Amino acid sequence: MAQSDLIQRTQAAVWHPCTQMKQQIATPPLAIARGQGVWLYDVDGHAYIDAISSWWVNLFGHANPHINAAICDQLNQIEHVMLAGCTHAPVVALSERLAQLTGLGHAFYGSDGASATEIALKMSFHYWRNHGQGGKTEFISLKNSYHGETLGALSVTDVAIFKDTYAPLLRQSAQVMSPDWRLAEAGESAERYALRAAQDLADYLARHHRQVAAVIVEPLVQGAAGMAMYHPAYLTRMRQLCDEFKVHMIADEIAVGFGRTGTMFACEHAAVRPDMMCLSKGITGGYLPLSAVLVTDDIYSAFYDDSTARGFLHSHSYTGNPLACRAALATLDIFAQDQVLAANRSKADYLDRAAMPLREHPLVANFRRTGMIWAFDVVGAKPDFARDFYLAALEQGLLLRPIGNTVYFMPPYVISEAEIDQLVNGSLIALNQTTVTA
Ligand SMILES: *Cc1c(COP(=O)(O)O)cnc(C)c1O
Repeated sequence: MAQSDLIQRTQAAVWHPCTQMKQQIATPPLAIARGQGVWLYDVDGHAYIDAISSWWVNLFGHANPHINAAICDQLNQIEHVMLAGCTHAPVVALSERLAQLTGLGHAFYGSDGASATEIALKMSFHYWRNHGQGGKTEFISLKNSYHGETLGALSVTDVAIFKDTYAPLLRQSAQVMSPDWRLAEAGESAERYALRAAQDLADYLARHHRQVAAVIVEPLVQGAAGMAMYHPAYLTRMRQLCDEFKVHMIADEIAVGFGRTGTMFACEHAAVRPDMMCLSKGITGGYLPLSAVLVTDDIYSAFYDDSTARGFLHSHSYTGNPLACRAALATLDIFAQDQVLAANRSKADYLDRAAMPLREHPLVANFRRTGMIWAFDVVGAKPDFARDFYLAALEQGLLLRPIGNTVYFMPPYVISEAEIDQLVNGSLIALNQTTVTA
């Protein structure tokens, strides 16, 4: 099927996410026919490195043989069964393994990241209510945070382009200073700035903790804000403050979980255990929609009762889907068998070295990395920079989608050194084509 035919039909029948459809006439979507490893192939046979892991979900490449085999095997047993009143081996095994990895012993499942956020917020409120503190109805998040786009999740999100239009529909929530080190004063270290930001949270909690149910945070990297990175000292201090003021700490590891920041979960950098952890995106290796909220025994116990209404009666039709759980188990198998975190460290070193010309480019500022996430800001970028760079990168065989003037790399972990070279060199060409040097 020719690319042009598919594009015409998608334009007529598919309402694409995060897209002004009228602009899609001028910048048509890629019509993808298949994928293999880090590569995506369009219907005309052009190849692109999926350098943003298909919106941060893919870990071990497209058409990964191990994950494919696990899903096919599961398909011949049971594709789906409701999780209320039924259980099955994949969901049990996955819950056990997630508990082992995080120290959070109970897993509640949803389908997308935003549904995990909704679950965590409702659960936190309900926990306090079950403890006779129904007045704890407020949530705190960080400035520039992103936790999803359903109404509850959007209430704690702080990205104007997604939020402003819907403001009349949303619950008020408080946003405290972001620890993003780019906002530090000259001469102030990332750590000192993180602690200064934490003081803002401390001040807010001191005044309002009686009404606050939870703080929700993206540990180490605020992704949608443009890969804003910060020092783990912030999380250590947040944990202390949440204990001191009796407020839940919800770690939204939807984007940063599963090795993205160099440890299995980003909270490990600060050696803190949150009260709840939201997981999605990489959980299935990028194969199928699945999310989970992992919680402490204390939270679980608050709902365990003779009264039905004290239970957590939330549900989604596809909760704990067996195919998705098998994909997740296969993904965890790869982590266990292939020493992925160690291999990623040497890949990251290689990319760091290869990216020297980018880092030293006169129009590149704040070149930064956490684990397997790289980002830099382009100085004096033109208004259409993100679109222009996207198009120029495609010409170089790269799928990259800058956020405003921030270019980031978030490749699948299976990227090879030759592919890293192509990613860096192609980005340099795209950068030079889309900027004017003074
Ligand atoms: C992507 C993302 C979400 C929302 O997940 P969806 O599956 O897109 O609903 C929530 N939080 C963070 C940190 C994310 O990156």
